[in-house]
Amino acid sequence: MTAPTLPTPALFVDRDGTLNEMVYDDTHGLFDSPRRPEQVRLRPGAAEFLRAAREAGLEIVVVTNQPGLARGSLTPEQLEAVHKRLAGLLAAGGARWDAVYVCPHHPSVAGCDCRKPRPGLLLRAARERGLDLTRSWMVGDGLVDVGAGRAAGCRTVLVTRLKLEQIERFLSFDGAEPDLIVPSLAEAAAAMWGRTP
Ligand SMILES: [Mg+2]
Repeated sequence: MTAPTLPTPALFVDRDGTLNEMVYDDTHGLFDSPRRPEQVRLRPGAAEFLRAAREAGLEIVVVTNQPGLARGSLTPEQLEAVHKRLAGLLAAGGARWDAVYVCPHHPSVAGCDCRKPRPGLLLRAARERGLDLTRSWMVGDGLVDVGAGRAAGCRTVLVTRLKLEQIERFLSFDGAEPDLIVPSLAEAAAAMWGRTP
């Protein structure tokens, strides 16, 4: 007799600013997603963090808003190339994700249920992959990540070097208060799984 398969808990993890660095775009004077593979740089501790999640028995699902697809500033081929490069850098550190879920919509599009802070990407991944949302985590560097994680019923971690007072002053939590605020992915792993940072 085989034991029934229980739903797996997941690590839902943001991409830009969490796994990879943002890229300074001097045409527009702002930080943006990498559009070319050679622009992809891992954030410190990204591979170690995913390895720790794997050892903790979590399925690893990257969830990312990519409105450049709708704006026409990013092609599906460029996105694919960036993901291939990011996966390669993580693999060199002994880490890999199980799936990537992308919201391709423009922020203004009506009827999109998946642009974070909406929970659609997480809910779809849970449905398609048999994930247990209540035992899952959402980790990211933005309050949109926290909002999406909370709305999906996950525990949430905000990775930021901002102090709580600064966050409260500059950003509205708006129902997006995280379970943990940590300054780095190493600290996140320490807090979530008792890893030594
Ligand atoms: Mg981010």
